[in-house]
Amino acid sequence: MTHSTGQMRAAILVAPETIEVKDAPLPEVPSEGWSLVRCNYTGLCGTDFSILHGTHPRARFPLIMGHEISGQIERSSAGGPPEGTRVTVEPLISCGVCVACLAGNSHVCTRLELFGIDRPGSLAEYVALPNDRLIPLPDSISELQAALTEPLAVAVHAVSLAKLEPGSIAAVFGAGPIGMLTGLVARHAGAEVIFIEPGAERLAVAAELGFRTAPADTDPIDFLMDATGGAGADVVFDAAAHPSVAAILPAVTRPKGRIVLVGVYKKPAEINLQQLTFREVEMVGVRVYTRADVERAVQLIAEDALNLEEFPIRVVPLDDVQKGFDIAMASGRVLKVIVDTSGRT
Ligand SMILES: [Zn+2]
Ligand SMILES: [Zn+2]
Repeated sequence: MTHSTGQMRAAILVAPETIEVKDAPLPEVPSEGWSLVRCNYTGLCGTDFSILHGTHPRARFPLIMGHEISGQIERSSAGGPPEGTRVTVEPLISCGVCVACLAGNSHVCTRLELFGIDRPGSLAEYVALPNDRLIPLPDSISELQAALTEPLAVAVHAVSLAKLEPGSIAAVFGAGPIGMLTGLVARHAGAEVIFIEPGAERLAVAAELGFRTAPADTDPIDFLMDATGGAGADVVFDAAAHPSVAAILPAVTRPKGRIVLVGVYKKPAEINLQQLTFREVEMVGVRVYTRADVERAVQLIAEDALNLEEFPIRVVPLDDVQKGFDIAMASGRVLKVIVDTSGRT
């Protein structure tokens, strides 16, 4: 530990595609209402890829990324969790005064920011965080699985917006990390889940996790109509955010069904609004998660409700963070790369 010297190891994104793992000053911790968190594990996600490429609209260099956080309290101010408490993090920063915040919907704050994107994150030995963003972990959660809380909270939020009922048929487009977690949560909620995914490796992972999958060479409309007796799926989760998926979403959703946009479209996409209208299909977007979703995600992990030990992860040490990004961005079998910032790996 380099703590006493006021230095820490950190992965610093100094320019697009340029991560330097080196010594950096310890984060400054405001004395009121903040804690210094020792980082254990941090998951890499698609948002980090766009930051790395220099295409994220808000991120500025230099930046310590990392918002999928598992850590423990090193030092806290009055009212914070006691030293040593293991925590995960709700990394949202809301303004508190916009129309969304005032209505109690701070996760759709019009000026929403995140630790790890707009402020320093956890790809380092330490991160400073406000106490009200820290969520103590139950003993039954491993520090490694705790790093899955944040993406799992997105899936929990998506499923909460889907209004699934036991026996509902849910189609999930995209078997990446968010799609797969959404499938797991939807199945836990009682839905029958079918995956549509063009990548052979990720399709195989979905099948290994026990999901029904559409063969890559079939037409997804034909497959889903066959699978639903010609009705269409009750709920369609779009975790692909690809124009080819937008083009067919209404066609594979049953009348009065629901489309849940889990992925984020980077550009406007064409969608058949006439089909949406004629079927009275509802379509809803998903922006991160609420506090309740994060707490539910912690609970699902603690109860081992989703068999997450079968979820294909790869752990890399902080020094190998670039290699970790390469693995994550290859979109292969590994669904989540988790960086060990504790020095143990
Ligand atoms: Zn993320
Ligand atoms: Zn706000």
